[in-house]
Amino acid sequence: MAKNELLYEGKAKSIYGTENPDELVAVFRDDITAFNGEKKDCFSGKGILNVGVSAFFFSMLEENGIKTHFIRMGDERSMVVSKLEMIPLEFVGRNRAAGSLVKKFPFEEGQVLDPPLIITDYKNDERGDPPICDDIIYALGILTPEELGQVREMTLKINEILFEFFDKLGLLLVDFKIEFGRLDGEIVLGDEISMDSMRLWDKETGESFDKDVYRFGKGDVMSAYGRVVEKIEEWKRQNVR
Ligand code: ADP
Ligand code: UDP
Repeated sequence: MAKNELLYEGKAKSIYGTENPDELVAVFRDDITAFNGEKKDCFSGKGILNVGVSAFFFSMLEENGIKTHFIRMGDERSMVVSKLEMIPLEFVGRNRAAGSLVKKFPFEEGQVLDPPLIITDYKNDERGDPPICDDIIYALGILTPEELGQVREMTLKINEILFEFFDKLGLLLVDFKIEFGRLDGEIVLGDEISMDSMRLWDKETGESFDKDVYRFGKGDVMSAYGRVVEKIEEWKRQNVR
C-alpha cells in the first residue's frame, strides 16, 4: 500500500495516509526518546526490530480474541493499520513495581503486584502525561463507565497473554503501556507493543531488555532489543504449526 501524506510525526513513529481513507501506514523510526522527550537518540535498525515485535504481538492477540488495528506489514519498518479515532489515554499494566510507580509511591522496586495494576495516564506531552482517575475520564467525556470497564478488561487479558508468553522465553513482563482507539464505534487496540513500551527483565538475573537500558545507560540498547527478537524467533522455530 503506497503511503501518501504525513499526518503525524510522533516521538518514534510517523503516521501516513494511504489511498484508502480507512487505512494508515505507521512507520517505526529509529528515534528513541526518554523522560518525556528530554533524552533523544537514534539507533540504526531499532524501528525494524520494534515493528516486527509489534506485528507479532498484534497477530497473537487477534488469535486470542482481542481486536487490534493491525492489518498487515508494509515494508520492513512499517505496518498498515486501521485508522482509529485515538482515545487520549495510556493504559499501563503492571505486574511488578518499577519506574514511576516506585518514584511516586512507597513500593519496593520489583515488588509483586497481585492482582496486577492497571493505571491510566492522560496522553498529553505538554502536560507531562498526568495520571487520570475515573471521574476525570467521565467528566472530560473520554470514555463512559461501561467503556472504561471494557478497556480495563481488555488490558488485563492482554497482560495475561503477554505475561504467559514472555515467561516461556525466560523473561518477566514487569509493565507495559498500550493505547486504544475507536473503529466504527468499537474499541480496538492501537499504537504498538514493543521494547520501547514495556519493561522486560531476565527471570533469573533481573537484567533489563527494554528501554530502561537506554533510559539509565545500562548498556547497548540494540543488543538488548535484539536479544528479545532472537528469543521470539527461537520460540517461533520451536512452535511451527
Ligand atoms: P507519540 O505521539 O507518543 O510521540 P508515536 O511516535 O508512537 O508516539 O506516534 C504514533 C502516534 O500515532 C501516537 O500519537 C498514537 O496515539 C497514534 N496512533 C497509533 N495507532 C493509530 C491508529 N491506528 N490510528 C490513528 N492514530 C494512531
Ligand atoms: N511507557 C510508555 N510510554 C509512556 C510512558 C510509559 O511506553 O509515555 C511504558 C514504559 O516503557 C513502561 C511502562 O509504560 O514499560 C510504565 O512506565 P512508567 O509509568 O513507570 O514511566 P517511566 O518509567 O517511563 O517514567
